[in-house]
Amino acid sequence: MSTIFTKIIKGEIPSYKIAENDQFFAFLDINPNAIGHTLVVPKKEVNKIFELDKETYRGLMDYSYDIAQAIEKVVPCKRVGMTVIGLEVPHVHVHLIPLNNMSDATFGKKIQMGEEDFKKLAQRISAEL
Ligand code: AMP
Repeated sequence: MSTIFTKIIKGEIPSYKIAENDQFFAFLDINPNAIGHTLVVPKKEVNKIFELDKETYRGLMDYSYDIAQAIEKVVPCKRVGMTVIGLEVPHVHVHLIPLNNMSDATFGKKIQMGEEDFKKLAQRISAEL
């Protein structure tokens, strides 16, 4: 069965998309730690990051780099942090999280955002690419 992220990539489930190319897809995390919390996913459905072939792994880092630069232009923060967990969704994804303090990096913390705010934010980050 497809993962929820494959369904998002295929457009079967909606997302606040930032960008995609033939191999990767970036969109806002629906339950963000902080404003601008973004997920970058390889279209290839692989469970764990270190199961990726090295070329895809390097490509994922490269794509995440570009997305992080765009996030930093839009979201006021001290830096964009990067985390890989994957305990909830078994499809490789990089979390890019604008950080202002340590609690932004803590996955227990969540913020609330409305649909319009998600949409506008995804568009603004996308426009910086
Ligand atoms: P983890 O697998 O522990 O790295 O966490 C999975 C992340 O995916 C969490 O931060 C969720 O908020 C996020 N997530 C789960 N479903 C969706 C979705 N439909 N759209 C956007 N983000 C999602």
